[in-house]
Amino acid sequence: MTATMMDVPLTLDWIADRAERYMAGVEIVSRRPDKSLHRTSFGSVIQRAKRLARGLIAGGIKKGDRVATLMWNHAEHLEAYFGIPLAGATLHTLNLRLHPDEISYIARDAGDRWLIVDESLHQYCDKLTYKFEKVIVVGRDYEQFIESCPAEGPLPVLDERGELGMCYTSGTTGKPKGVVYSHRSTILHSLVAALPDSLDLRRTDTLLPVVPMFHVNAWGLPFIAAMVGTKLVMPGPHLDPPSLLELLQNEKVTVAAGVPTIWIGIRDLLDKQKYNLQPGLRMIVGGSAAPEQLIRDFDRHDMYLLHAWGMTETSPIGSISRLPPELAKLDEATRYRMRAKQGLPPPLVDLRVRNEAGDVPHDDTTSGEVLIRGPWIAGSYVGGHSPERWTSDGFFRTGDVARVDAYGFVQLTDRIADLIKSGGEWIASAALEHALMGHPCVREAAVIGVAHPKWSERPLAAVVLKEGKQCTAEDLRAHLQGKFAKFWVPDAFVFVEAIPRTSAGKFKKTALREQFKDWKWT
Ligand code: AMP
Repeated sequence: MTATMMDVPLTLDWIADRAERYMAGVEIVSRRPDKSLHRTSFGSVIQRAKRLARGLIAGGIKKGDRVATLMWNHAEHLEAYFGIPLAGATLHTLNLRLHPDEISYIARDAGDRWLIVDESLHQYCDKLTYKFEKVIVVGRDYEQFIESCPAEGPLPVLDERGELGMCYTSGTTGKPKGVVYSHRSTILHSLVAALPDSLDLRRTDTLLPVVPMFHVNAWGLPFIAAMVGTKLVMPGPHLDPPSLLELLQNEKVTVAAGVPTIWIGIRDLLDKQKYNLQPGLRMIVGGSAAPEQLIRDFDRHDMYLLHAWGMTETSPIGSISRLPPELAKLDEATRYRMRAKQGLPPPLVDLRVRNEAGDVPHDDTTSGEVLIRGPWIAGSYVGGHSPERWTSDGFFRTGDVARVDAYGFVQLTDRIADLIKSGGEWIASAALEHALMGHPCVREAAVIGVAHPKWSERPLAAVVLKEGKQCTAEDLRAHLQGKFAKFWVPDAFVFVEAIPRTSAGKFKKTALREQFKDWKWT
């Protein structure tokens, strides 16, 4: 039998055309560098994106060519998100927090032809050793360029397996590696991410992506927003808690998304100052583990923290911690514990936790590496680097360590690279960090292994205290005792001003290990 359905490619023009036709009036608000607000709509953004696409083609950009962006979150970046792929080219979002040498390496590796850059970041370009064929500066010649592009005219027919966009991994293990998203992978990811039991995004929502558009496509949210027609509020370069809270309040935001650090800052400010936020405001939190205490704290403010896990290689949605009805009936402590886990994979994602003995039993104890497979999971890196990251049965090895409970909920315990080996036994640094961040005086904590003459490595905790709070190493030790095996409890607690961070706002354990490499155990 042959199915009788149309064979329609899953390409971005479907989303763009529908947004232009039916969501034309949906507002896009962007914060400018001078803090003023710029207002436009999906109708205008898509029309301008199509002009951009025609302009790119007229300028010699061909199918499969890579066009880079170096921008904050705002309407023009959204135009590039649609315009570049609609031209058949590849949207390459460069991470503005990287060192110019790293950006140059990445742009060269990708073979980027043109660059669209914010005026405020333009001085950065002079520091790049990589030279783009053409640079268009938003705030300088971008408007002129858009006006010079044809307002009408056909756009290329897109291939669903063709390149839509690309991102580079943050390169914590070796050089950054490129991941290329296809039209098909992006459409399928958007559809599933929007589902009620996934991120639950809808036309009635107003969405504020704090997560940068230069990091895994802001978790795919710009595409999802255009697909469902949510109003978008873009914070531009102003990511400090007062600026964000002002936007959350004044634009009546119903959903926001970002890494835990952002929400820790917002929680601290909300504890001091009253804002008039939408009741039940949802925050999608991922990128690193959301501390259970943070989830509890936001419930107090009538804000719902939804914890999700993913990677550049997974587009990024890999799992979401949404409680099914049978779990929602459990006691409060269990519910919070479950919500702090990374949760279940969404439809079309096969997620396994595997060790030498095979897939781990769902006993909430046995740990293994998270392996993942699905239509929006990378099947290789650009240039075929690190083929060992894929198993012979087609799964991507994430490098994350986890265990699984009887409900199938995955709980990450560490990155393989961050595990601490003490006296031949493994200690999971992330689990200790979680517990430390549950202490009322602790704002942030990162635990690393430091060389030890007897045990090979012992854990050291770097701790940032909350403003105005005092506690001692003894207090923290007492807080951990009873929760962990004795040998897990760090031998040293060092109080620091801040924990070094990666370009994506995660703890930079390599920098912390460097800082403490000459540590003397007493
Ligand atoms: P990146 O590709 O830079 O987004 O980094 C992906 C890595 O971030 C994952 O492999 C995890 O180690 C970490 N990560 C992302 N989301 C979470 C989460 N919800 N909980 C714990 N770790 C996370």
